Parts: sequence; structure tokens; C-alpha cells
Amino acid sequence: MSEFKKDNSNIINLRQGVSTIKGGVADMSRKCEVCGKGQVSGNRVSHSNRHTRRKWNANIQSVRVENNGTVKRTKVCTRCIRSNKITRAI
Ligand SMILES: [Zn+2]
Repeated sequence: MSEFKKDNSNIINLRQGVSTIKGGVADMSRKCEVCGKGQVSGNRVSHSNRHTRRKWNANIQSVRVENNGTVKRTKVCTRCIRSNKITRAI
């Protein structure tokens, strides 16, 4: 029985590890690699003034960027694209 319990705890630990890894990946992909602009949080406020948490995602686009002669696909926010902070590869 004790071994069974040990296995169970391991599974739980694994699941927690996976969830944290997933969260990290999601956070990474929602960030501009130029200015670091990312997700911000706040409240959704209903007409009855009930507050629930919500998130705003930055407008991140995956673009081909040329850097020192090499072309790399990079996640950049639309503001950085517009203000020519990167050189786009065609
Ligand atoms: Zn940016």
C-alpha cells in the first residue's frame, strides 16, 4: 500500500511540473522579444460591480527578422514592427 501511495504522489508531482512548464511556455510566446511587452491583468467589472480577473494579451506577431545576415522567425509586438525596431526579411 505504501508503494502505491508513493506512485500516486509522483504522478501528482509530474502533473504539477507539466502545468508549470506549460504556463512558462505560454508566457514566453506572449511576449515581444524586442521590448518585452507581454500580458497584463486587471478586472472585468460587470454592471452589478462584480470584479473578476481578466487578461489582456499584447498584439504579438511572428515575423521573419533579419539580423547580421541571418533570418530568424521572431515574436514581435505590432508597435515594434510599426516603429521599425526590426528589419523584416522578405
Ligand atoms: Zn515590442
